[in-house]
Amino acid sequence: MYTIGIDVGGTKVKLGLFDGDMQIIEQDSFLTDKEASACALTCYLTAKVRGLLERRGLGFADLRGVGAAFPGAIDFEHGRIIEASNLIGYNDQPVRDMLQTRMGVPVFVDNDANCAALAEHRFGAGRGQDHMIYACLATGIGGGLILNGRLYRGMHGMAGEIGHMFVSDSTGYPCGCGVIGCVQSISSGTYMARYAMDRIKEGEDSRILDYAGTLSNIDTLAVGRALAMNDPLALEVVNRGAEYLGRMFHSLNEIFDINVFVYGGGITKLGGRFIDRMVAAYRHYTLSDQKYPARFLPAELGDRSELIGAALLVPEEGKAE
Ligand SMILES: [Zn+2]
Repeated sequence: MYTIGIDVGGTKVKLGLFDGDMQIIEQDSFLTDKEASACALTCYLTAKVRGLLERRGLGFADLRGVGAAFPGAIDFEHGRIIEASNLIGYNDQPVRDMLQTRMGVPVFVDNDANCAALAEHRFGAGRGQDHMIYACLATGIGGGLILNGRLYRGMHGMAGEIGHMFVSDSTGYPCGCGVIGCVQSISSGTYMARYAMDRIKEGEDSRILDYAGTLSNIDTLAVGRALAMNDPLALEVVNRGAEYLGRMFHSLNEIFDINVFVYGGGITKLGGRFIDRMVAAYRHYTLSDQKYPARFLPAELGDRSELIGAALLVPEEGKAE
């Protein structure tokens, strides 16, 4: 039997056909239409899945099921999108039932970071771990918790939203979650860039602006290039972001007594100095680290983790997720 994984991202939608060994045997992708309704998306996805199956001479009857990853808050149990970040046409939509009705096979939907956590636990850096915390450090900050070998979703399917942990009452920008000072409002790619931009606006001289070209073009890529040239502001931006991430991992360890952290996402491209500083901040706050040293493991599946994890949402025979 086969499985379909779907990763609905902010810019791209990816589809994969997986064989019985969970290997991808066919793939497809298309650009995300941010204005589309959930109805239009599920209709288009059904046609795309049919096309993918036909390439192998297969049909919906050959599928165990379909798993789909969406950004934002998802009610896994009821298969509803609560709030899909900037894809507003999907908000409060029962996408699982919409897909299930059109495709006639079992469908499962979950948050993209949860899917990535599942994939890294099964096939990536977290292989063989009973407990691990996955952190996606990108334009936003998300995560997934693997407790006792299983994904922990919490009471409403929203566990693992580590980006909105409150880490400072003296810095940060207003975040979509409603607070100023959650780790996403300080250490995400979006807000690290924003901080650099504001400091330059205030008159700080920095090579970040040379690499970005214009103020509004400043991103963590430009920060990273300036960091490589030992630009003082770039160093400050990166250290500040890393400090609050270290606090976040510290608090996670205090709550769960888990010190296996798998991290992925675009801002990890800031490199060793950023990661080392993040780990150093964690160690500074975490007394138990001397006795039980943490492992910070780079994610291994790259941008395929959400797609693979989406397919893993479909229960395998005798082994429900
Ligand atoms: Zn927040």
